[in-house]
Amino acid sequence: MYDPLSPLPADFINDAEIMATLAYAAAKKSDRGLIDDLLAKAATAGGLTHREALVLLDCDLPDMNEKIFATAMAVKQQLYGKRIVMFAPLYLSNHCVNGCVYCPYHRQNSHIRRVKLSPDAIRREVVALQDMGHKRLLLETGEDPVNSPLEYVLESIATIYAIKHKNGAIRRVNVNIAATTVENYRRLHAAGIGTYALFQETYHRAAYAALHPTGPKSDYDYHATALDRAMDAGIDDVGGGVLYGLNLYRYDFVGQLLHAEHLEAAKGVGPHTLSVPRVRPADDIDAGAFPNAIDDDTFAKIVAVLRLAAPYTGIIISTREAAAARERVLRVGVSQISGGSRTSVGGYAEEEKSADNSAQFDVSDRRSLDEVVKWLMDLGYVPSFCTACYREGRTGDRFMTLVKSGQIANCCQPNALMTLAEYLQDYAAPATRELGEKLLAAELTKIPREATRRLAEENLLAIRHGKRDFRF
Ligand code: SF4
Ligand code: SF4
Repeated sequence: MYDPLSPLPADFINDAEIMATLAYAAAKKSDRGLIDDLLAKAATAGGLTHREALVLLDCDLPDMNEKIFATAMAVKQQLYGKRIVMFAPLYLSNHCVNGCVYCPYHRQNSHIRRVKLSPDAIRREVVALQDMGHKRLLLETGEDPVNSPLEYVLESIATIYAIKHKNGAIRRVNVNIAATTVENYRRLHAAGIGTYALFQETYHRAAYAALHPTGPKSDYDYHATALDRAMDAGIDDVGGGVLYGLNLYRYDFVGQLLHAEHLEAAKGVGPHTLSVPRVRPADDIDAGAFPNAIDDDTFAKIVAVLRLAAPYTGIIISTREAAAARERVLRVGVSQISGGSRTSVGGYAEEEKSADNSAQFDVSDRRSLDEVVKWLMDLGYVPSFCTACYREGRTGDRFMTLVKSGQIANCCQPNALMTLAEYLQDYAAPATRELGEKLLAAELTKIPREATRRLAEENLLAIRHGKRDFRF
């Protein structure tokens, strides 16, 4: 029976509830009165339930769809302004004991080059990332208790945090590793991770079983309760995700929201981030083998409605997406993007060769971080390298309280400008720096509180004189 408070995935990601939601949305998707009411509710950043969200997602009335996109853009502007948080993935190891059919790291793939970074290799990768300007990493590794046990991940995190190179520093290490025990999550928490992210990939049990035929990941329930265990272990910020295209997107969209509603109901705070990757080709993987792959229009609609349903939750996309698709979803909802990414193990220190088949997926957006930063600023966005909340202990419900109080703009905006200023001083190409300096001057005026604005101005001056790492 559907119960968001239940610890059992069969209850909180309840198939009957998803099917009833699909039927409800099919019946209501052209109900203009209802859609107007939902948009009025969403416009106040009050969020939407999974049923309400699917009505908007299914709506096929062109004029109402324009309203849906316009409301998503307005909510995004109200809560996030023009700020976009930047991060980079770092692949530690591609050894994996699982059999996920959509991923080239699957155990049966015998022609992929298996690599695991040594501490020295991690140092080289992190120095290369710091030299690009990154401050926030997402660690990724395949599941392999022999080749990459938790101890290896913990040691790698310690290595990363310890590397100080010129003005560089990795200030927040988010982690995306296999589902594990409460005890292991406690150890990850003690290592100082930011967000723990784990994607359910698909919420449909039969599809999940077919896509994960072997290995520990084949246990749907253990996987679907991993974020609960992480939160029980004290990790306040968790991130969920669907790999869109593995299954029918409506089902997974509702599942993604049910999962978020469960965490909010059962743990007091919903996911910190939601990721919306789409299936991509890679070694041994033919994206054409996934007939449920979604087009750009559907993708943009999913992002827009997620923004309305979960207004305070970060939405993340990666370089799987090409620049044009990224530009579109940035407008309607995405708040974090990766830039200059390498998706192979060791790909930052050594330029990836086309013959290298150790990548997890083909990158569509192959621009450098500086090109992405300049592109964002050309579009009017403010690239942010901020990691302040985590370092100030503003995680979980403390973070949500601040965000919902409407005061987050007094943190995010100055932090975005100060971290962008660091980037411009230390890493930017001349044209990027010139553009960025103009942007800083214009955006400084948008800090709501006067005292904060004055302090931010002083800090920007200090950054120009070589000081680093200010935060609100
Ligand atoms: Fe392993 Fe993750 Fe790839 Fe599955 S998706 S094969 S668990 S690396
Ligand atoms: Fe994120 Fe907090 Fe920085 Fe805002 S101030 S960008 S919420 S870390």
